Amino acid sequence: MTPPSNWPFDAAGKVPSAGSRGAFPAQLNSDKSHQFAIKSVAAAASTASASGQNDLKKLFQGGVSDGLGLDSAVRARMVRRLAEQGVLDASVLAAMRAVERHHFVDTAFANMAYEDTSLPIGFGQTISKPNVVARMLELLQHGRVDASGQLGRVLEIGTGCGYQAALLSHLATEVYSMERLRSLHDKARENLRSLRLVNVHLLLGDGMDGFAKGAPYAAIIAAASGEAIPPAWIEQLAVGGRLVAPLQDASGAQALVVIDKTAQGIRQTLLEAVHFVPLKSGVG
Ligand code: SAH
Repeated sequence: MTPPSNWPFDAAGKVPSAGSRGAFPAQLNSDKSHQFAIKSVAAAASTASASGQNDLKKLFQGGVSDGLGLDSAVRARMVRRLAEQGVLDASVLAAMRAVERHHFVDTAFANMAYEDTSLPIGFGQTISKPNVVARMLELLQHGRVDASGQLGRVLEIGTGCGYQAALLSHLATEVYSMERLRSLHDKARENLRSLRLVNVHLLLGDGMDGFAKGAPYAAIIAAASGEAIPPAWIEQLAVGGRLVAPLQDASGAQALVVIDKTAQGIRQTLLEAVHFVPLKSGVG
């Protein structure tokens, strides 16, 4: 599916409103398994504080001189591009700056690791474009960090190669990441081993059921798209928590959805068009 021409942000740096995407919300809402009211879209772009601006400056000063090698400079360039595209959360940008995306893709694609493109990770699955990953992490973070500036426990559905789990390890206190394909679960374990991320817990299982033992979660993020949000995800989300996932209608058209669980109930917001691999049930 071709993303809208103003992808991912309009000229003002805001997320395009749901109204600009025709009938998508109505079609999604026809799914009876999740009858959450769809509220009007609130643009979630956060504004960087003065100290945040300084953090951003530091992030952009990458180069061979920092002793991290040339890929560090390339990553700094990617982060600069993400900021230009509207990602403003300093902690998300810092995580994108720190985690080596090339480490998670096959050698054949390593030279494309910092381009704004999705890449194959084997077994018919893909790692999302950096700007989609950053956008989702920013949405997840938005207003949900504690006094230490961190998210609490996070559940990730679709570990894939482990790249996003590594990013989440910088943002959250604990990361529970579920993958239904054993081969990818093993690959992620291998990719993450040398990083020794003690707060990342890789789980082999059907993410549709969530992971009740780790609940409630401050945040849930899915990297695979279904026609409905599994009820277990809503149940396992903490009050005050946020879920970010792709959601698709019967024709396969996808959009990002943000679900906030509040003391007053569930608020669902549809955002821009995306393209993710399908959410499937069972373990393979
Ligand atoms: N975040 C990943 C992206 C992986 S692509 C990364 O950084 O690499 C999406 C992944 O979701 C695929 O690996 C796919 O196998 C997995 N997936 C699909 N349905 C699932 C389910 N029900 N439970 C767990 N994982 C699932």
